[in-house]
Amino acid sequence: MEFRDLKTQYQNLKDEIDAGIAEVIRSADFISGKKVRELETELAAAVGRKFCISCANGTDALELVLRVWGIGKGDAVFVPSFTFMSTAEVVSLLEARPFFVDINLKTFNIDPNCLKKAIAEVQAEGKYTPKAIIPVDLFGQPADFDAILPIAAEHELKILEDAAQGFGGLIREQAACSFGDASITSFFPAKPLGCYGDGGAIFTDNEEEMRLLRSLCVHGKGREKYENIRIGRNSRLDSIQAAVLLPKLRAFFQYELDAVNHVAELYTSQLKDVVRTPSVQKSYRSSWAQYTILCNDRGQRDNLQKKLKGDGIPSVVYYPCGLHHQRAFAYCGYGENSLPATEAACERVLSLPIHPYLTDDEVCSIAAKIKGYL
Ligand SMILES: *Cc1c(COP(=O)(O)O)cnc(C)c1O
Repeated sequence: MEFRDLKTQYQNLKDEIDAGIAEVIRSADFISGKKVRELETELAAAVGRKFCISCANGTDALELVLRVWGIGKGDAVFVPSFTFMSTAEVVSLLEARPFFVDINLKTFNIDPNCLKKAIAEVQAEGKYTPKAIIPVDLFGQPADFDAILPIAAEHELKILEDAAQGFGGLIREQAACSFGDASITSFFPAKPLGCYGDGGAIFTDNEEEMRLLRSLCVHGKGREKYENIRIGRNSRLDSIQAAVLLPKLRAFFQYELDAVNHVAELYTSQLKDVVRTPSVQKSYRSSWAQYTILCNDRGQRDNLQKKLKGDGIPSVVYYPCGLHHQRAFAYCGYGENSLPATEAACERVLSLPIHPYLTDDEVCSIAAKIKGYL
């Protein structure tokens, strides 16, 4: 059994993907080609943003936005601790200071009350200037933007939505990748919308920032080729990756998103009486990058994972350690119990196989096994 079945997906979309890749090779239009522009137009329309700027990966996407906002030394950026490394790494790369915020154990997303407290503490201390928040749409569910947007407005903080795992999510009618001042996503193969290598995208409604981002992605280019007006970098999406993403994007909205939501509902109906199943906020939709259950304690979690493995069922601990306790961020000085919900999650979470091609029989058999062990 696959944790995320990219092989079946490829078999379903093989004709279109192969034809698209062949076309790129035939036309030798490998970098920033026609397909890349086509994909950006479709992505922007799909999420309801004016502009989409594709780039090399989700981490670059995060860093480029912060760079355009001028985030740097002396600035405070608020991030959840329960997330992938990139969310906070980019803050440190720009020599700003990441402030780690605890999560809500129900949604695994940043807790708005803890966010308020963290902002107040930084203000009271006066050492760093609060500048931005990076809410993460963890495991596919949009962060609690209903609560976060007013907090950002009150403190005049920018919001960068990290939707690396969130593409396809919704809050009522509004799509993930359209919340806050700018959003990013990742096309890493295992994300809800993945390509066949690395890839990423930035979404914004701000035309001036769009122009700056496009320039930064291509060595700070000006109007003419070989005219460089600022220090940039090389961060582009390959045309072959765009050729993979175009048919996948259509399949994603045509049936994959519904299929994966069906899988999640079935898991929940089967498991809700034996473990804490993931909850989605009212009027929110998840794209189920992960289906993550919460066990009673570390012992139960580790045991469950071992038994599943013995029965050939893969499961993964996302994440075993909060960023506030990673060695890379030791310089930020977070002690034991500083973010209790994050620390509890790290001990108790387990992500089960989930993808649009998981059958009802497979879900029921995984659930039956879990019920049996517990
Ligand atoms: C995967 C991921 C990223 C980084 O994306 P890459 O394309 O791998 O650089 C950033 N944030 C979160 C929450 C992620 O899961």
